[in-house]
Amino acid sequence: MKIPFLSLSIPDRTERENLLKAVDKVLAHGQLINGPELEQLESRVSNFCGKRYAVGVNSGTDALFLALRSLGIGSGDEVITTSLSWIATANAIALTNATPVFADIRDDLNLDPESVKERISERTRAILPVHYTGKICDMENLLDIAERNRLFVIEDAAQAFGSEKGGRKAGAFGDLACYSMNPMKIFAACGEAGIIVTDRKDLYDRLLSLRYNGTVMKERCIEPSLNCRMDTLQAAILLSRYDNVPDNIARRREIASWYNHLLADIVETPTEKEDEYDSYYTYTIKTNERDLLKEYLASHGIESKIQHPILMPGQPAYNTAKPVYCPNAERLVKKILSLPASEKITKTEVEYVAACVKAFFEKASFRDLAESSG
Ligand SMILES: *Cc1c(COP(=O)(O)O)cnc(C)c1O
Repeated sequence: MKIPFLSLSIPDRTERENLLKAVDKVLAHGQLINGPELEQLESRVSNFCGKRYAVGVNSGTDALFLALRSLGIGSGDEVITTSLSWIATANAIALTNATPVFADIRDDLNLDPESVKERISERTRAILPVHYTGKICDMENLLDIAERNRLFVIEDAAQAFGSEKGGRKAGAFGDLACYSMNPMKIFAACGEAGIIVTDRKDLYDRLLSLRYNGTVMKERCIEPSLNCRMDTLQAAILLSRYDNVPDNIARRREIASWYNHLLADIVETPTEKEDEYDSYYTYTIKTNERDLLKEYLASHGIESKIQHPILMPGQPAYNTAKPVYCPNAERLVKKILSLPASEKITKTEVEYVAACVKAFFEKASFRDLAESSG
C-alpha cells in the first residue's frame, strides 16, 4: 500500500465539475480581481468566525504581513511569537522591520503564556500566537497578558480554520486574525490565498489600502505597500468549497479518533480538552524514536512529515541574533511526527498506518533502536 501524506489531485469527477462551474462563472463575468465572489467569500468568512470584517489577500503570509502593518508595527518594535511554526510567521514580522521575539511552547505545541510574559520588554507591541496543528492556543491567558501590558494580539490561524475553543472559533480572539487558504490547508484554494479578519473599522480600511499598493481611490498612494490581492478565481473556488468545511473537519476528527484508539499506549497521541474542537490540520504524534519510525514508515510506503524540523529561531535567517532559550521547543521538535490524516484517507489506510507504527515498536526493543541509531 502507498499512502501519501496529502494528495492534491481530485479524483472525484463531481468535485472537479463543481470547481469548473465556479471557474466558468468568473471567466464569463471577467472581473478577475476583486470580483463579486471575493466579496461573498469575505462576508461568509467574517460571519463564520464572528468578526465584522474580512479582507481576502494573496496568501496567509501576506495576511500576516498586512495585519502587522495595519497596526503600524515596524522599526524598533518587538512582536512575541512561538518558536515552532512555519517560517512565514517570523518572516511577516521581520519584513515590517520589527523584531520577532521567540517564546517557548508547551506540550500541546502552542505558545506558553509564562514564556511570553518573560519576553515582554518596553518595545513589545504585540503577541502573535499560532494555533499550531489546528489546536487553539491558551487564549484566555494570552489575552489577559496582552490586556495588562497593552499589547495587540494577532492570531496566526493559518492551520486552524474551523477549530473552536469554549464555543469560539479560531480567529475570533485577537485584534486581527489571519487564515491561509493554500492547497495544504483545510479550507483550501487551488493555489495561493489568505484572509484577514477584524472587528475594527479603522484596521479594515487600512487593510483595503495596504492590500493594493497602499492606495486609496486606486491612484492615490498614502503609504508604500505591495499588491496582495486575491484572484477572483481562487475566491470562487473557496466559495464553492465553503459549505464542505464542517464535514471535512468532522471527518478529520473521526480519523484522529481512530488513530487515538489504535495508537494509544504506543506513542503520545494528541489530546483535546473538553471545551476544544480541533480541526486536526495535522495529526501529530510524539515519540523519542521519531527518525527511525519515519524511515520505517517510508519503507512501508507511508509518507509522514516533520512540521517543522527547524525551530524558527534556529533558521539561518534568524539565528544571528543572540541565542534563544526555548528548552521545551527544542525537546519537542525532536519528537513530533505528522501522519497522513487528510479527510480523503480511508479507515483501511488509517489501520495500515497504525499497524505499521505498532510493528515498528514491537520489532525492536528500545535498546536495539538506540544502538542502531547511534
Ligand atoms: C501555511 C501557514 C502560513 C502561511 O500561509 P501561506 O498561505 O502559505 O502563505 C503561516 N503560518 C502558518 C502557521 C502556516 O501553517
